[in-house]
Amino acid sequence: RPEGVAFLLGLIGSGIGPSLTPPMHEREAAELGRSLEYRTLDIDELGAEPGDVGALMRSARRLGFDGLNITHPCKQLALRHLDGLTPDAEALGAVNTVVFGEAGVQGHNTDWSAFARSLEAGLPGAPKDRVLLLGTGGAGSAVGYALMRAGTGELAVSDPDFERAELLAANLRGLFPDRVCRAVPVAQVADTVRASDGLVNASPVGMAHHPGTPLPTELLRPSLWVADVVYRPLETELLAAARERGCRVLSGKGMAVHQAAEAFGLITGLVPDRD
Ligand code: NAD
Repeated sequence: RPEGVAFLLGLIGSGIGPSLTPPMHEREAAELGRSLEYRTLDIDELGAEPGDVGALMRSARRLGFDGLNITHPCKQLALRHLDGLTPDAEALGAVNTVVFGEAGVQGHNTDWSAFARSLEAGLPGAPKDRVLLLGTGGAGSAVGYALMRAGTGELAVSDPDFERAELLAANLRGLFPDRVCRAVPVAQVADTVRASDGLVNASPVGMAHHPGTPLPTELLRPSLWVADVVYRPLETELLAAARERGCRVLSGKGMAVHQAAEAFGLITGLVPDRD
């Protein structure tokens, strides 16, 4: 660990060069008057494989890191290298934060709680009984879990990879047996959105290198709230169209900020200087 540095943190993942996480953590520490160094451990740049995440975690711990953020494609693979994990991370089968402490390597998932907080703060009072979720990868799994925890009674999930959607739906039904959760084929998305209170895009459609909208914008109506987890750009084509049609909208910024702030708190033990 570099001399005079109070906290040493890092991020393991693939293609993380342009990640916003390091400056968010460094700024957070600076605001609290503490020195923090944040290093990116990009498996591609290191010539490593996703399966090397355990070896990278062990090396980081030996080198004096206090903890790590874990991102795509290592969130599930990191599970088998932990000494313990929170019940939420276990239910999700993914960690995005690991803390090195006296109790060993502890895994957490702040993606789901960050989406839940962002939704609560950004769309207070929005009806959540019937929600359609597009995209059932890492982000979609966290969003689906957050919606069920927030009381959604009927969650429809859709993904061109229908098997993936079915897996998430089955996992959520197992965790929340009193609710309805079903996988919807792409051909039924239009009918499903008409019967929904809210829509969440957790697919990469709308990112700068993946332009477009994940569903036809004619389906958007003023009584539907629309959330996007994409945060580059913050104003996706979907959100712009939804705003124009009079929908309440939520960008991916809150989720990104809250997941970093919660991870910062877990690893450093400091309380981030914002809600
Ligand atoms: P992923 O590759 O694990 O999953 C994406 C899923 O979306 C895939 O299963 C894919 O088949 C599906 N998909 C593609 N096109 C679709 C469409 N038209 N309709 C429905 N599903 C579709 O990716 P991920 O890690 O889940 O990330 C997804 C997006 O979420 C990315 O843009 C990422 O930047 C963003 N993200 C944001 C935050 C945040 O804090 N705001 C956190 C994590 C991820």
